[in-house]
Amino acid sequence: MKTKSKHIELFGMKYKIIFVPEDHEKLRGDSENDGYYAVVAHTKNKIYVRNNITKRRLNKTLLHEILHAIDSELYLSMSHKQIYRLAAGLSGAGVKVKCIR
Ligand SMILES: [Zn+2]
Repeated sequence: MKTKSKHIELFGMKYKIIFVPEDHEKLRGDSENDGYYAVVAHTKNKIYVRNNITKRRLNKTLLHEILHAIDSELYLSMSHKQIYRLAAGLSGAGVKVKCIR
């Protein structure tokens, strides 16, 4: 996937999607996780995404990260499981994340 600058809009703010190698420090896992496809940095309005991600997974991953941002912004206190399932449900319903330049 090309490393072009993409953004999504959330709560009237532009979030920059930054494509990085999977061994980038932002995506590195810990003892319980092998690493992440994406990570959202709420305070910086940035979403770090693996640069080798497939288009299909990118959409689902962005839905997931958007749900994290919504969860945080609206104080919903959703569990990670709920976020995963909502992203899978929305993706399965054909919801596509609209990227802007
Ligand atoms: Zn997550």
